[in-house]
Amino acid sequence: MSTPHSADVLAALRDFVARLDGLDPAAPLVGELVVRLGDGTERLPLRLPVARALTEALRGYHDPRDRGSCAHCATGRLDDDFVCRDCGIVNGLFGRTVAAFVAAAPEDPEPAQPRGIAPAGRPDGTLGD
Ligand SMILES: [Zn+2]
Repeated sequence: MSTPHSADVLAALRDFVARLDGLDPAAPLVGELVVRLGDGTERLPLRLPVARALTEALRGYHDPRDRGSCAHCATGRLDDDFVCRDCGIVNGLFGRTVAAFVAAAPEDPEPAQPRGIAPAGRPDGTLGD
């Protein structure tokens, strides 16, 4: 069954091969590229420049969803917020700073007290307006 993307993929491959083969029609033939998608099959000659270009393109591709690996544990992948999916640490300098604050924080901190001058500390009991 054909998908909406099948025809696009096959056409893109066919155009890519034709474009590069047009630059060097006598380049050595190294194989055949056969791609089957849905109901369509594309059989294309695979010449050396196309093989090299495909290898370079595939190895060089960076998916925009890939945020990289964690600098802390080195194995975890980062989510969209740059938080490691394995160790949960925020990556980078900001993450190290947050981790240092968390590590330095007391386990059971007392409730935060309001800051400022207590009413008894003001001689006239006003806010000084
Ligand atoms: Zn990690």
